[in-house]
Amino acid sequence: MPSVRRAFESAVGPAACLSALALAITAPSNAQDGSEASEIKSALAAIQAKDQALQDIGWRLVARNAEFCSRKQVSAGLQLLDLRAFGEPDRIRAALDLGGDFLVQTVAEGSPAYNAALKPDAEVFAIDGKPLSDKPSKDSRDWRRLAEIHDEIDLAMSEAGEVALAMDDGRVVILSGIPVCATRFELDDGGKRAVADGKRVQIGADFPGYGYPEGEFAAAIAHELAHNILGHRIWLDKEGRKRKNIRATEREADRLMPWLLANAGYDPASALRFMQRWGPRHSGGIFRKRTHEGWDERVEQIAAEIERMQQSWAGDGPANWRQHFVREIEAD
Ligand SMILES: [Zn+2]
Repeated sequence: MPSVRRAFESAVGPAACLSALALAITAPSNAQDGSEASEIKSALAAIQAKDQALQDIGWRLVARNAEFCSRKQVSAGLQLLDLRAFGEPDRIRAALDLGGDFLVQTVAEGSPAYNAALKPDAEVFAIDGKPLSDKPSKDSRDWRRLAEIHDEIDLAMSEAGEVALAMDDGRVVILSGIPVCATRFELDDGGKRAVADGKRVQIGADFPGYGYPEGEFAAAIAHELAHNILGHRIWLDKEGRKRKNIRATEREADRLMPWLLANAGYDPASALRFMQRWGPRHSGGIFRKRTHEGWDERVEQIAAEIERMQQSWAGDGPANWRQHFVREIEAD
């Protein structure tokens, strides 16, 4: 994939996992038809498995911390996939035996979409009676169309209280969203980065956390989510990205991790274990980024925050970080 396109997408919108699948699909294949279909299916399944892990954890974090988040959005925990985002949608459509371009990519566990029994791979034909086949698409590799549809679904649930999805098995599924902290989670292209842009958390498909125990991967996602919740991007835009400022935002994101994890039902100490596992490999030694503190200092600060948290949180009921978390910077 041309690097220009990758740079453009990461600057402008959700390239998400789609281009990773596009890579698998547009790779030269001298396979016969039958095995091409199975290659496409297994590429899709691999991406769905990673996205499922990300969406399940992300959902727990944003749904169970919602009461303390000042910025919320209505969500049903549903991720769709648009074949138009790929270079050769016709080949994928044939391999997956689809009539149209839209299918369910993932459904976050415990979300309204999950409770409505929506399943990955199910095809979606219409939203609120409007056929998706009418949706204009400028060309192939058009990922904006999917972003618009996700926005439409959220808007319908927020304004009308529900949205109706017409499915390939003839069902019409009525979804009602619930308020969650305002962040979407996206599996990004290959790459090891985890990034928060204020509204989204993007996790690269090669991020090492996919191989960690669930609580430690959740800690990494909670750190990125904390940047969005605490308004760090806006604050840094205003105050400048001086080393001192970046360190302050990193410290705050580290300290909010155990609170977010506790509410999501994870052991808050998994924030420590994440930093102990990830830190020595990614931020230590002569390659230490000077914008970030050493991983060992970060472990100490997280441990101190867990102690502070336990002074106001007895381990049952929600951990009220809105009231008890001490801000280091003046954001919001
Ligand atoms: Zn960070």
